[in-house]
Amino acid sequence: MTTSTVERPSVCPLDCPDTCSLTVTVDAGRITKIRGSRANPYTAGVLCAKVPESYPEFVHGPGRLVTPLRRAGAKGEGRFERISWDEALDLIHARFTSVIAQHGAQAIMPLNYAGPHGTLAGGSMDLRFFHRLGATLLDRPPLCGGIRSEAWAGTYGAAAPGIPPEQMEHSKLIVAWGYNVTWSGLHMTPVMDRARRDGAKLVVVDPKRTKIAERADLHLPVKPGTDVVLAWAIAAELERRGGIDRAFVERHVGGYEEFMTLARPWTLAAAARECGLREAAIQQFADWFRTISPAAIAVGNGIERNQNGGSGVRAVFALPALAGKFGVRGGGLINGARGAFPKTPAKLTRPDLVPKGTRTVNIVDVGRHLTDLSLAPPLKAIFVYNHNPLVVHPDQNRMRRGLAREDLFVVGCDVVMTDSLAYADVVLPACSHFEHDDLFAAYGTHWLQRAEPVIRPQGQALPNTEIFRRLAARFGFDGPEFTASDAQLMDDAIDGSDPRLGGVQPSRIPVDAALLMKFDGAEANLFTNVFPKTKSGKVELASPYLEEKFGARLPSYRPFTSSYPLILITPASDRRTTSTFGGCTANAETPPLEIHPDDAKKRGLSNGMRVRVWNDLGEVRLPVRVTDAVPPGVVCSLKGAWMKTSDNGQTVSALAPAHHADICGGACYNDTRVEVAPA
Ligand code: SF4
Repeated sequence: MTTSTVERPSVCPLDCPDTCSLTVTVDAGRITKIRGSRANPYTAGVLCAKVPESYPEFVHGPGRLVTPLRRAGAKGEGRFERISWDEALDLIHARFTSVIAQHGAQAIMPLNYAGPHGTLAGGSMDLRFFHRLGATLLDRPPLCGGIRSEAWAGTYGAAAPGIPPEQMEHSKLIVAWGYNVTWSGLHMTPVMDRARRDGAKLVVVDPKRTKIAERADLHLPVKPGTDVVLAWAIAAELERRGGIDRAFVERHVGGYEEFMTLARPWTLAAAARECGLREAAIQQFADWFRTISPAAIAVGNGIERNQNGGSGVRAVFALPALAGKFGVRGGGLINGARGAFPKTPAKLTRPDLVPKGTRTVNIVDVGRHLTDLSLAPPLKAIFVYNHNPLVVHPDQNRMRRGLAREDLFVVGCDVVMTDSLAYADVVLPACSHFEHDDLFAAYGTHWLQRAEPVIRPQGQALPNTEIFRRLAARFGFDGPEFTASDAQLMDDAIDGSDPRLGGVQPSRIPVDAALLMKFDGAEANLFTNVFPKTKSGKVELASPYLEEKFGARLPSYRPFTSSYPLILITPASDRRTTSTFGGCTANAETPPLEIHPDDAKKRGLSNGMRVRVWNDLGEVRLPVRVTDAVPPGVVCSLKGAWMKTSDNGQTVSALAPAHHADICGGACYNDTRVEVAPA
């Protein structure tokens, strides 16, 4: 270490449930190394490979945006010229003002998602600005995670926390359902290992034989979209075998009879046929779930990405309640971590500033609304930030047509130049989270952390909060809500008077020690120190909340039909977090398409061959990997790859349909059906 080298604490802000604490080595103002720190006891010094490999290049590499830009070529061409911040803000002000004069403020819309998960960068001053502007509101959760959140809100109540993942150490049966923990929740694996050394069994439900599935005592490669059937069959089997905890159900569960009426017809044999599973495997799972306690289910996002997604998640959520698994350490559901934190979003984002009657657009529908001009008023200006919609949204070709509209004014704001920003008229350089303060409430654990900048803003980059402060000033929004400092925003984000904060102001949380959210002085434990927050105070298997919001009082099942024979699943990669880091050198490789040997043989495919993967929406060309890690009828490729990995300007998102799931208007990536042939 040279004299100019320092080590500073930070936090990983990526869209990942773990929110690792970091030690960042800075040499002469540049990040040279990132390793895990023990400030967050759950992540305990261990990081996934993505962050140390890609972050230094992300922050300092050739793709980094360091000055505002104005488009100098055709949309999508990626040719820009440098401009000053004043010029950029003037341009945005002039174009937004003109759109408002012609079409009203709702013709403008933010198009943002979950690039950084910091409380400030992810949604604070930016939303205050758009709320005050009167822009169309964007319903963001449907793109990912929203279905699970709504299913939780409908079954246990949004404000109820599930058990923290650490408690699995005390479990004797662990179920990872639709959750590739090795790549998307890494720190669960050592907890699982400790439990298993103590005799716990591990069941993995996942269409693909992932690494964690390889190590499981039982792997159920469920057909995508049929999780609800599997969970119903287990519920029915519990009932047949006397595995229902009648006293618990009587006292704490609503809607038992309505739920079981749907579950009972699903015999193990019928479920095995529908889910593509062995009947004996379902029987084994049901027997273990009936007889082993404590039992915990960790629910991932894999279940929700189909038209039956909400039903699948709800039926899985029902199982621990039916079998009375709660109220002991290591028993229940690893879910609902957001309910662990005393968040105050109304103070942070100020929805009271939104003009009455402002419309809301589902993020899944944005491509359609950008191309189908029947929306009134039409979208005439969008502000893309924390998001790479061209790579991430379903029906990519439609999204591209929308972004390429000459009459659409596009502002893009990000840390690096992305495929989507190539379509922007004005580009604003944002700070990485290493360059500004932020507060991090994990969505998979119960730890709250704060981070300070470890390096100065690169070039002319600014934190999102400052960008929107300046925009607000340029538009003449001068209330104190638009001049609030980052420290004030942190204190607006979390209720500092809540006992969970232990008297510490959010903006003063030490940067070298994470804060565990405790309930009556102990870790959250459903039915011990925390209880459902539904209206009835019970676990609602028939949900008045979901009935009112989505007309879905109960789970349901609709088989998906298509003329294309193969189901394409697109889970998370071990190299990128969704599309973040897709521009880094380490991610230039085209992700392969995995296909079962039987399906490969039928099509004359062999390992390494380049194949066409297509449906009515698009076509992608990928190298093929023949493997029995995917079951017959299912093919798999990893999401989030950028256009540089594609030889025809399309990635797997081009094949994904944009229809909605049964609740939340959620995205249905795993309803993608395709055919495959040699390229
Ligand atoms: S992506 Fe997840 S596992 Fe990887 S460093 Fe960030 S928080 Fe940790």
